[in-house]
Amino acid sequence: MAEQRDIALLLRSIPYSDSSLILHILTQNHGRICLMARGARRAKSQFRAGLMTLHQLGLRWRTPRTGNMGTLLEVQRLTPLLPDSKILAGQKLIATASTLFPEGVAHGHNELYHALQLLTNRPEDAGICAATWKMLEFSGWVSDLKHCWNCSEAIEMNQSMYWKQAHLFCQTCAHDQGFHVSSGDRKSISGHLLEPNIKLNQAHIHLWQMMIKSVFQEHHIKSSV
Ligand SMILES: [Zn+2]
Repeated sequence: MAEQRDIALLLRSIPYSDSSLILHILTQNHGRICLMARGARRAKSQFRAGLMTLHQLGLRWRTPRTGNMGTLLEVQRLTPLLPDSKILAGQKLIATASTLFPEGVAHGHNELYHALQLLTNRPEDAGICAATWKMLEFSGWVSDLKHCWNCSEAIEMNQSMYWKQAHLFCQTCAHDQGFHVSSGDRKSISGHLLEPNIKLNQAHIHLWQMMIKSVFQEHHIKSSV
C-alpha cells in the first residue's frame, strides 16, 4: 500500500454511500486512476475545497492492496485552467477526454491539459473544435490536413480534398465522392489550430463540427461538440 503523489485533473466524481465520492482522475505520471474520497461530501471534509474540475490538482493517495481503487489522502487545488466564461465548454472537453482516455490508459492528462489551453485563447465554438481535434489527433483518430489519410500523399494547400467516412481523402482516392473540403477550408482550419489569431468563419466551424461528429460516429461514441 504505497503512497503516491502526482499532478492531476478531475474527470468525474460519483457519490458513494452516504458521504463519500468515487473520483475518476487523469494524472500526469500514473495515467487514469480511480480513487475513493472518504467522507468527501461531509460539510467539514478537508477534501471539499480541493476537489474541483478544470483546476490543476496536487494529489496524495494510497494505492490499493487489491483491485484498482486507491484512497485519497490529500488534495490541493492549484491553478484554474479556464476563465469562468469558458467553464461549460471546458466541461464538454472533460466529457470527451473521459471517453477518449478510458481506465487503464497511461496517458490523457497532458492531452486534456493541452486541449484546455487551446480553448483558453480561442473563441468558444472554434476553440472546442480545435481542442477536440487535438485530442482526436493524440488518440490517432484523425491526422493532419496536409496529407491524404488513405495514400499518405502530401497534398498542396491550393488543392481540394474530400471528407468521406471520417477520413480526409485526396481527389484520386475519393473518386470524387464525399464532402468537398476546399483549399480555403484546409488553410483556415490548420491555421487556426496553430494560431488563434487566424479566425474561422461560421462555414468553417460548421464543416469542422461535422467532421468531428463523423469521427465520433465512426467510433460509435456520442459526440459532445
Ligand atoms: Zn490519396
